[in-house]
Amino acid sequence: MPAPKRKTAATAKPAAPRASKAADKLAKLGLRSAMDLVLHLPLRYEDETQVQPTAEAGFMNGTAVQVEGVVASCEIQYRPRRQLIVTIADDSGRLTMRFLNFYGSQTKQLAEGTRVRARGEVRHGFFGSEMVHPAYKIVQEDTPLPDALTPVYPAGEGLSQAYLRKAITNAMSKVNWSDTLPESLRATLNLTPFEPAVRLLHSPPPDVDEHALSERTHPAWIRMKFDELLAQQLSLKRAQAARRSKGAPALPVTGELTSAFLETLPFRLTTAQERVVAEIRADLRQAYPMQRLLQGDVGSGKTVVAALAAAQAIDSGYQAVLMAPTEILADQHFRKIAAWMEPLGVNVAWLTGSLKKREKTDAKGLIESGHAQLIIGTHALIQEEVGFARPGLVIVDEQHRFGVEQRLALRNKGLAVAPGQTPTVPHQLMMSATPIPRTLAMTFFADLEVSVIDELPPGRTPVVTKLIDQNRREEVITRVHAAALERRQVYWVCPLIEESEALQLQTATDTHAALVQALPDLSVGLVHGRMKPAEKQQVMEEFTRGETDVLVATTVIEVGVDVPNASLMVIEHAERFGLSQLHQLRGRVGRGAAASVCLLLYQSPLGPVAKERLKTMRETNDGFEIARRDLEIRGPGEFLGARQSGQAMLRFADLERDQWLVENARNVAQMLLRDDPATVELHLARWLGGKEDFLKV
Ligand code: ADP
Ligand code: MG
Repeated sequence: MPAPKRKTAATAKPAAPRASKAADKLAKLGLRSAMDLVLHLPLRYEDETQVQPTAEAGFMNGTAVQVEGVVASCEIQYRPRRQLIVTIADDSGRLTMRFLNFYGSQTKQLAEGTRVRARGEVRHGFFGSEMVHPAYKIVQEDTPLPDALTPVYPAGEGLSQAYLRKAITNAMSKVNWSDTLPESLRATLNLTPFEPAVRLLHSPPPDVDEHALSERTHPAWIRMKFDELLAQQLSLKRAQAARRSKGAPALPVTGELTSAFLETLPFRLTTAQERVVAEIRADLRQAYPMQRLLQGDVGSGKTVVAALAAAQAIDSGYQAVLMAPTEILADQHFRKIAAWMEPLGVNVAWLTGSLKKREKTDAKGLIESGHAQLIIGTHALIQEEVGFARPGLVIVDEQHRFGVEQRLALRNKGLAVAPGQTPTVPHQLMMSATPIPRTLAMTFFADLEVSVIDELPPGRTPVVTKLIDQNRREEVITRVHAAALERRQVYWVCPLIEESEALQLQTATDTHAALVQALPDLSVGLVHGRMKPAEKQQVMEEFTRGETDVLVATTVIEVGVDVPNASLMVIEHAERFGLSQLHQLRGRVGRGAAASVCLLLYQSPLGPVAKERLKTMRETNDGFEIARRDLEIRGPGEFLGARQSGQAMLRFADLERDQWLVENARNVAQMLLRDDPATVELHLARWLGGKEDFLKV
């Protein structure tokens, strides 16, 4: 086989990219100003301050070392494949450098007698100790070793380390190094001054504490993380102030509708519900927009709280809009809330993507004319061309299912411009069963008010969770049968198959068929995401009315579905689900007074993470505890999705590990905004420097 021609070779000196192209590439990394470059800090370091004797280098298996020697031989071999083999010698012995990609000119560059400094991992190969594709440079006997660690920077495609280093060194001579934080503040917080911290991170002296450097616990790193977190906190507080400066329709009236509604409710609000209702009520009376997150575990009764907030908007003469992430859930809200409100004379409209064109036009007409007082729907509310006549309140259910942009889009759709008046933003209420860990609440969600329902309605018995090996399916079917004979309804959740929706559907259909056969005297229903909305609706209705004993379902029932008579849940291949998903699914039972059971079928052997998850499910029903463990297992980035976690905005600080710094930064931000606006300006200019997209809240 002929050797392929190779144009790109690993040579010591990469060519510097052309200036304009390079600027584009830097811009891609967000590096536009000299200060941006100065704040582009190394990912890690390489130690080129020492050389190891070749004889000892061989014992450093797997770690990168630097050696120096004179080329003893340099030749191209053709077997087993074309490669360049260079042997270098020092006083202690020899070492082979092997290049599989190389330029012909390298044989000249590395001619016998040349002195070479090479860095790489040493392995024991056929030729004794060897380095494959080491980084190397040609040196003289008196070429000094660098006296600082060599930084390795985050680099984009086509940007070499050498180019970045040069650009950064160059930028360092141009920037204004003044410290943005007053000395007294630095002293109180025990923070290193800015300039020495940055300089140390770009070129750490050889005696630096390397562990602290790589763990980012070094005082220089602490200073950078603090500065970054402070900038984040300052900009969040600003966003909050900007929101407060916007007008919202004040919704002062809790009148007839509210009291009539409370009277018709078949239950009394729990103390926790009463408390959050009061919090929301007070917010809605203000003439600036509420932005409140209502957290409550699955089944804690968030819907009725949302309905009361909507009643206040309607009582005050405005429209209330409720958006849910799935058709099933929107449909359920529609049914339930319309059943509560329509008898009280409220006009309710319904808008989802699956409506017929005619129905959509009708719904839009009602919404735009202001005839519809309460509007319930899915994403269609933001996707469809529809304007709200008098929006006062928007409610987003299961908010973690929506992206930031979608929530903003709904709110901005609600911007109302009355002739001759300043536009107003509607109040916003977000609901979620996924509790937000404290650090996240302080960072990304710093602009939110939070209300918590920390109590379940009375009379619930906690769900008992059991783990059962998948091969004991027969026993499970027997249990399902027994439950149905006691008039208890059952959910049977089919396994999640992430790679293929088609396969997931297939499994659901197969499971349905198998259960129909195994349980001939029961009525077994099927619901999945690919069904037409009308079909889905019908299946759900039959189940709600108790006409179906067993409902085979995909994860479409994961969020929000509320059928209190269902008290047994079977989840197949539970090991494939995430913790919060399992908790959401399990939350579909235990909604009535009957003791409920959740059977988690698993396929053994279980991996350590899956084992941990299932164990957590068996041990606790507490959503906050589950969220805490979920966070432990997954880390905050994944926990809420990178976009929501706020980590995406941070380059140096880690929300979990640097919690104490987050708290400090938050307090300092508050203090500076109150007492020292000049410092705020300086600091934001340095760290944000006009990057508006740093923060899109
Ligand atoms: P989630 O918080 O998960 O959205 P829901 O709002 O769906 O919970 O409420 C769960 C169930 O509890 C519903 O059937 C609801 O009617 C009922 N519920 C809500 N509040 C109370 C209460 N104070 N007393 C009794 N039942 C309640
Ligand atoms: Mg709900």
